Amino acid sequence: MGKGMPIGLCCVCDDPLDLSDAGVCKTCGNGLCWNECGNWHRGQHTCSNCGEDDAEEDDDNV
Ligand SMILES: [Zn+2]
Ligand SMILES: [Zn+2]
Repeated sequence: MGKGMPIGLCCVCDDPLDLSDAGVCKTCGNGLCWNECGNWHRGQHTCSNCGEDDAEEDDDNV
């Protein structure tokens, strides 16, 4: 240890996050790999888990 603090595990792939490539999902609040495991979803950056799970909130869905 001692080479920079791990800031948590990705909630999608469980890899340790590092500050240069980590983000927080706006939906579930968990950390994720910003590039690898995140998606832009309705204007917010969310983890892959949440990005695909948007069932009821979509008003302009026909
Ligand atoms: Zn990940
Ligand atoms: Zn999420």
